[in-house]
Amino acid sequence: MAESYPRVMVADAEGRIFDHPDLEMLVWDGESLRRPEREELIALPLGSDVFALPGRSPLAADPDTDEVVELNEGPDGGQLNAVSAFVAPAYVRLYHPAYETRDGAPDLPLYAYGAVGWMNGRLYAPAIRVDSDKRQDPYRFDVPEIEAKVLEFKLRYPRNKTVRHLEHCALVYHCRAAQNYFLGRWEAPMPAASTCNAACIGCISDQPDVNVEAAHTRLDIPADADDLIEVAVGHLERVPNGVVSFGQGCEGEPLVQGPVLEATLRGIRARTDKGVLNLNSNASLPKVVAKLADAGLDAIRISLNSTRAPYYERYYRPTGYDLADVLQSAKEMTSRGLYVSLNYFVFPGVSDSPAEIESLCAFIEEGGVQMIQLRNLNIDPQLYLRELGEGAVSDPIGVIPFIHTLRARFPKLRFGYYNPPRTKQGRKGPLPGAKLAPLYAT
Ligand code: SF4
Repeated sequence: MAESYPRVMVADAEGRIFDHPDLEMLVWDGESLRRPEREELIALPLGSDVFALPGRSPLAADPDTDEVVELNEGPDGGQLNAVSAFVAPAYVRLYHPAYETRDGAPDLPLYAYGAVGWMNGRLYAPAIRVDSDKRQDPYRFDVPEIEAKVLEFKLRYPRNKTVRHLEHCALVYHCRAAQNYFLGRWEAPMPAASTCNAACIGCISDQPDVNVEAAHTRLDIPADADDLIEVAVGHLERVPNGVVSFGQGCEGEPLVQGPVLEATLRGIRARTDKGVLNLNSNASLPKVVAKLADAGLDAIRISLNSTRAPYYERYYRPTGYDLADVLQSAKEMTSRGLYVSLNYFVFPGVSDSPAEIESLCAFIEEGGVQMIQLRNLNIDPQLYLRELGEGAVSDPIGVIPFIHTLRARFPKLRFGYYNPPRTKQGRKGPLPGAKLAPLYAT
């Protein structure tokens, strides 16, 4: 008989993952435990990962009594751990997994931990797709083809240090942006900076916190303009509707390399008028942004965990700038008619708290933001809330109501996950989770 609701997943001490025979999955919305709505659940998308969470006891619901059950021991008396899903690119998780952290539990590595359950022979997760663009869908990447292209580029660009760096990204980190560069499609990365003027607690290229490992080794030498120009022009001349982007996971903050970026932008536009020249950035230096905009920059994607200054500063730990500078950078772009999107780190409980939504709306309004790229924040949930402190979570309304509230306030606001090509800039696109709106109607 078909099941109507997912059962909880558990892991044994060896990390082997099982579905519990009776108890049902619970989720955590950042403030309280709850059952996800059946309609919020999707089959876990291809390209997602599943993790056992060390030192964390799963919490589940007893379908007969509706009570919360903490699972500590398996039938063999062994310790049980919670299980989480890291949903594939272009998807946003709606809730955190439900677990109790045991004393002495290690901090979790830098992933976005989402809830997951088992139903009718497969894994289900409360998540939604926020971008129909398939540029990072896993079945589109054939490793032997990528390896052959890397060899080809080695011959075509024998002295280009950026291409050498991207070879490592494509073959070792399996970075989809670097792989798309070699495959000659969509968006190409242009890592430029080896330092940063912030010290994010969730930085994936430089981790001051010994307990948490950075996912990438940060670029050790700043890139030079000639190499970047060669990469960009080569990509934009062969890829229709292409995008090239400074600001990647393997580098620091591109704005600290202002003069190199300015020379690169002028060099590219001297050779081609094709595609979008984009900057992924913490937008900390508005004067530099203004210069880059005048040098040919078309779009900026501003990374933010929160638009409330205390929570922004406790996460970014900025040096020599603050949130007002970030907002000013947005204005420098929109005042020139250029494209501004946010790389907004969605964290259930914080992002969908009414106080956060209010301040985010003020930032969108004042900055003239045209798009929000909804990204899952990759961090241990308890560590993050510990660092943010009191008040970060207060009466969260849910991730989908959060998105729908923004669209109601800004009818032209675009949602997505990836930097749009020129043809999609200015188009609002579909509303993520639109079909689920009746679920939240009050
Ligand atoms: S702004 Fe980027 S590079 Fe700098 S610390 Fe934060 S995540 Fe790392």
